[in-house]
Amino acid sequence: MPLELDWVLLSLAGTLGLVVGSFVNVVVYRLPRMLERDWAHESASLQGNEVPPAPPLNLLFPRSHCPQCKACIRWYNTIPLLSFIVLRGKCAHCHHAIGLRYPAIESSTALIFMFCALRWGLTPSAGLWCILGAVLLALACIDWDTHLLPDVLVLPLLWLGLLSASVGWIPVALEASVWGAALGYFSLWSVFWCFKWISGKEGMGYGDFKLLACLGAWFGWSMLLPIVLLASVAGSLVGIALKLSHRLGPGEPIPFGPFLVGAGFIAMGI
Ligand SMILES: [Zn+2]
Repeated sequence: MPLELDWVLLSLAGTLGLVVGSFVNVVVYRLPRMLERDWAHESASLQGNEVPPAPPLNLLFPRSHCPQCKACIRWYNTIPLLSFIVLRGKCAHCHHAIGLRYPAIESSTALIFMFCALRWGLTPSAGLWCILGAVLLALACIDWDTHLLPDVLVLPLLWLGLLSASVGWIPVALEASVWGAALGYFSLWSVFWCFKWISGKEGMGYGDFKLLACLGAWFGWSMLLPIVLLASVAGSLVGIALKLSHRLGPGEPIPFGPFLVGAGFIAMGI
């Protein structure tokens, strides 16, 4: 591929990554709130309580607004990364600081997309790995914030991995992908129950089993052990660091999902 074409492809991938990253921010912020609201409604209706009417909340509505002053953000202030730089990280209305996480997620998604474009070129494979990367990034942030790994993101990603392997769009044989999904789920499920049986505590959640099943579907069963080992070592080191710096209270757990995702990104790069 000529060098010029590479640069065009890289810029297109980076721009698309910034736009998708901006949507990842919306998903990370709104999806847990949407789920919590649904659960509250279900629980109220199961108990026969009247569900109070509430304004609609989904990924598209209401329009983005400043969490501090609630002012709607104008379209020209929602340009990924650029608006943050122009506004110097402050709300255009009340000048309240905007979290650094928004541009960080946008630029991370752009980097993932550029990496996929460089590695797989303009192919269906590149598109699939971009989807995996963006959804994994959203899952890591949601799990870090809320200790939730929503099925609505994990399960379609698992199916996409299996289907991609079946048509040969990812370099994993269908058999390795199916076994990866099954062993990924049952390995953590077994660890969970052994740990619970010995210590009486729950070391992780069912979302972690599904996430590892998903990574097994995308990378094959042979990558499961390296992914779990890497995630466990990284998780333990971060846990110790947070405890030593008093940012984690006694008995307070840290989510495992972000570390599984981190190991998944390393698997994507090798
Ligand atoms: Zn504001």
